[in-house]
Amino acid sequence: MFRLLIPLRELWSDFLDLLFPPPRGCPLCGAGAEGEGFCPRCREMFLDHRVPVGCTVCGCFPVRNGTGGACGGSGSRPSPRTLCPHCRSDRPPFKAARAVGPYEGVLKEAVLRLKFRRERGLARPLGHLLAAVAREMVPPGAVPLVVPVPISSRRLALRGFNQAELLAGELCTALGWPLVPVLRKVRETLPQTGLSRAERLSNLSGSFAVVPGALPPGRVVVLVDDVITTGSTARECTSVLLAAGAAAVYVLTVAAPYCPATTPAGPPAGR
Ligand SMILES: [Zn+2]
Ligand SMILES: [Zn+2]
Repeated sequence: MFRLLIPLRELWSDFLDLLFPPPRGCPLCGAGAEGEGFCPRCREMFLDHRVPVGCTVCGCFPVRNGTGGACGGSGSRPSPRTLCPHCRSDRPPFKAARAVGPYEGVLKEAVLRLKFRRERGLARPLGHLLAAVAREMVPPGAVPLVVPVPISSRRLALRGFNQAELLAGELCTALGWPLVPVLRKVRETLPQTGLSRAERLSNLSGSFAVVPGALPPGRVVVLVDDVITTGSTARECTSVLLAAGAAAVYVLTVAAPYCPATTPAGPPAGR
């Protein structure tokens, strides 16, 4: 079914490039000359020297210049079993979550520009960054199904697109993995901002569903979203995908917070 979608998606993406031409210079920060790809600064930040994660499960980043604490000690590479306090006390149902980098600077700007200023051209460079992270996260040789986190039909009507689906589409184009948009948001939920972790989970409970029969069973799934905050959305979507027959779920986002156990304010949760 999803094989038919690929040529259409490419046509659509060419059409969107005409409407929303990619920015000149570095696709993330605009520096440098046209057509040169990422500028040296962005390349260094996101491809060559990615910040090592503080938690090997949820992928949150260790607090900068922190000395020890909850998140992988002094900021050196975590041991294979490094878990943040949240994952230690309440292990998420997904195998692992990884992001391109912390939710700050040009990465944060890029997410906000894509989502709220509707700069769809940013999906492609961000999708390439996601592809680099995805290759490291998923077991070698696996061809996972890529499932974007859905937004409600009301929000889709307002924004005109689902940013997670654009990112997932670019990831699939880069890696040749099948895009399988089988999740639906079936219930409108309150904004997550200002809710506690427990309130966030109960707010989302029952709000996502898999289209019946649409998910091929026994496959590894990569769930794609723009930002992971407390992980409530990723947990809820993962549970629904596992119940629908997924073998395992990995979560891939553009940005992730610093360790939530040591930083009180994470990124905004407005979807
Ligand atoms: Zn740049
Ligand atoms: Zn964690």
